[in-house]
Amino acid sequence: MSALTDLYEEIAPCQQCTLSKTRTMVVPGEGAENADIVFIGEAPGWHEDKQGRPFVGPAGKFLDDLLGLIGLKRSDVYIANIIKCRPPDNRDPLPPEIGACKKWLDRQLEIIRPKMIVTLGRYSMARYFPGQVISKIHGTSKKEDGIIYFAMYHPAAALHQQKLRQVIEDDMRKIPQVLADGSAADEEDEKKEERPEQLSMF
Ligand code: SF4
Repeated sequence: MSALTDLYEEIAPCQQCTLSKTRTMVVPGEGAENADIVFIGEAPGWHEDKQGRPFVGPAGKFLDDLLGLIGLKRSDVYIANIIKCRPPDNRDPLPPEIGACKKWLDRQLEIIRPKMIVTLGRYSMARYFPGQVISKIHGTSKKEDGIIYFAMYHPAAALHQQKLRQVIEDDMRKIPQVLADGSAADEEDEKKEERPEQLSMF
């Protein structure tokens, strides 16, 4: 059993907020335990609630297409949501629900230790880019504590507003370069840390 599988068993019976009363299945997340990139959306929808898997409805199909644009599959990355149970009638998640569910996502990220976190939509953006507006910061990144954060619209936004489809695709295409730049900066920092020791040898 992997650490993530163990964690899923802990999450499955969770009753730490009232969504436990209306959900069909908990939707913890899925993907590679050693993924470089974690995509974080908002909340499970109708399809996800029935299957216990994230992003399996129309927005998930678009996310698969987006991953394909940069040569990735679902199994190459990790996909999760800010909350693990479906809000009734797909309403927005409430602050107490987001707060109660935070520990699960935090533990997933502790296990995966990704190089990059991509926020999909307003709710995950609010956690990692507090006080920001998605129409202003989508397609931009920042680095904190060794992790690159990159903000995108939620794929479902393209289903409601066709004009956003191109915007979302263009943002997705930036990800490989943002990840490469961030990794190169890490290597440069490591070299700088090594240099004083090397000099002291002579
Ligand atoms: S949404 Fe999160 S905190 Fe609430 S019951 Fe589901 S797993 Fe537990």
